[in-house]
Amino acid sequence: MIGFEFNKKIKYEGKPGKVKIFDTTLRDGEQTPGVGMTRQDKVEIATALSKLGVDVIEAGFPVSSQGEFEAVKAVAEAGLKSRVCALARCVEKDMDAAMDCNVDLVHIFIGTSPIHRKYKLKMNEEEILKKAEQCIQYVKDRGFKVHFSPEDACRTELPYLKKVCKLANDMKVSEINIPDTVGVMTPQAMHWLIKELKSVIKVPIAVHCHNDFGLAVSNTLAAVAAGAVMPHVTVNGLGERAGNADFEQVVLGCKILYGIDTGIKLKDIYSASKIVERVSGIKVMPNFPIVGDNAFAHQSGVHVHGVLAKAATYEPIAPEMVGAKRRMVLGKLIGAHGIKDKLEQFSIKVNEEQLQEITSKVKELGAKGKKLVEEDLIAIAEDVLGATAKKERIVELLDMKLHSELHKKPVATVKVTVNGKPKTATKEGVGPVDATLNAIKKAVGDESIRLDEYHLDAITGGSDALAEVTIRVSRNGNSTIARGVNEDVVMASVIAFINGLNRILKK
Ligand code: MN
Repeated sequence: MIGFEFNKKIKYEGKPGKVKIFDTTLRDGEQTPGVGMTRQDKVEIATALSKLGVDVIEAGFPVSSQGEFEAVKAVAEAGLKSRVCALARCVEKDMDAAMDCNVDLVHIFIGTSPIHRKYKLKMNEEEILKKAEQCIQYVKDRGFKVHFSPEDACRTELPYLKKVCKLANDMKVSEINIPDTVGVMTPQAMHWLIKELKSVIKVPIAVHCHNDFGLAVSNTLAAVAAGAVMPHVTVNGLGERAGNADFEQVVLGCKILYGIDTGIKLKDIYSASKIVERVSGIKVMPNFPIVGDNAFAHQSGVHVHGVLAKAATYEPIAPEMVGAKRRMVLGKLIGAHGIKDKLEQFSIKVNEEQLQEITSKVKELGAKGKKLVEEDLIAIAEDVLGATAKKERIVELLDMKLHSELHKKPVATVKVTVNGKPKTATKEGVGPVDATLNAIKKAVGDESIRLDEYHLDAITGGSDALAEVTIRVSRNGNSTIARGVNEDVVMASVIAFINGLNRILKK
């Protein structure tokens, strides 16, 4: 089903009913500056991608190092449902390394554009054609399937590009991929090119778009509308330079804007993005579509009111569809509706007059540029309502002890009261903060509590540096944000965690 009336007006001639996703997070994504993945990292991401319903996982470039070879082999032998692919130049040792990994598919590429022919390969058109033919044959003779790319296709002369594609097509490679290696296409040009190439390519067409002009997703969707059936994507849009076409956007674009099935389990998209964020160490921008922190956040009073009345007023994609959550942000633009909704989550009831007073105080702080979290709102509400909103705290810290030694995991012992009853627990952790929070969690004894996010800021003022810790804890699908400030990082973390526990256990 295509969403949105005007999109239904456009009839694309070559648009397929179904596309299959080729994910290259583990190959092009790993080429993101600053990213490196271990074998365990790759297997973890590949497992998530396979569960998502990705058709092909490009696991890496095996010839590049022994570690990379072993990582690709581990992914190929992990028993995943997805087909696993490895990259190889038109060089025997590359192709041998790929095949030795027991992959399902060998991705062979050779530059075809004048600039690659002249400066990189130092080969003429005929020599490149011959080389491509030899290499495709070399891999096929050994019983492996070929995914073939004329590298820099989008800067290659059309007649020559057609010649190369016709050769690969006639040799019955599994797919021919058209890479926009340096991201210079426009959607219209991409649509035109795929239509042109369809006259010589009968095997399925893949596309590989880069984001140098911010058009990777647009170009990919344009190629799909013209008949490309295998978009290359990376989770969170990782990749060389400005990155590749983003997995989440291409999948949702196909599904909602075109009505094309991708075979992807949409509900797991958000969690897959989080796994890649953690493993790669590259944080998704807040305003990134679909998986960014702000993708389903509403701050202005007008929008919050609209969304609370009917989510579709300001949400073209329902957050639950991709496994994400809607968020009402507190700030100077928030209106009374959003605040009332928030307060109700904590069973705080207010009358109209109190609500207006709370709203104006929140706006006042927001206008001063203060970043408000839920506990600030509760503090304001408690202030306005007096004692009525104050409730007993469920968890209180009585005492804590930390033991840290070189080459040993730190161990924390905490004493807390839970509903007035004293409890003691000891736990270790990767560091003192982790050990202490683990011990508190154990003492509270609720298995469903999870620490989802942890953020540390150093606030410097005068001669003291204060640590501010902001965390998000969740329990049974509810989550809350809490904060702790202290001169000591461990104490700031403990304060934030206990504040969060008190909040989440009341929800
Ligand atoms: Mn690339």
